[in-house]
Amino acid sequence: MEHIETLVIGAGAVGLAIAATLSEQQEVIVIEQHNHFGEHTSSRNSEVVHAGIYYPSNSLKAQLCVQGKALLYQHCQTYHVPIKR
Ligand SMILES: Cc1cc2nc3c(=O)[nH]c(=O)nc-3n(C[C@H](O)[C@H](O)[C@H](O)COP(=O)(O)OP(=O)(O)OC[C@H]3O[C@@H](n4cnc5c(N)ncnc54)[C@H](O)[C@@H]3O)c2cc1C
Repeated sequence: MEHIETLVIGAGAVGLAIAATLSEQQEVIVIEQHNHFGEHTSSRNSEVVHAGIYYPSNSLKAQLCVQGKALLYQHCQTYHVPIKR
């Protein structure tokens, strides 16, 4: 435990993504109040991959949606997660 550098509280999509990235370079612990990961908002949404069309063109939100969409498709392909486009 002494060498743990980062503690992530919350195993939703955001906490898990942060932990996955950080864990490539350091020891990370994720703490979740429920028994399993993703039991809160991340497993109770509309399951739509946002394309950024609802945000002003070139806004940071629109840019991140487009970038995130490509990364998500890539991630699903790498880990064989079925996804409907
Ligand atoms: C109705 C609805 C529909 C949506 N539809 C879409 C969609 O179609 N597409 C899309 O991309 N996004 C959608 N979203 C948004 C998306 O679901 C959220 O932005 C995303 O899931 C947030 O992830 P998160 O990790 O921040 O939160 P969460 O998934 O809520 O994760 C936070 C975690 O932290 C844990 N936690 C909190 N406090 C503590 C504590 N003190 N100790 C330990 N654990 C704790 C919680 O139990 C939870 O597991 C929707 C959201 C809602 C509400």
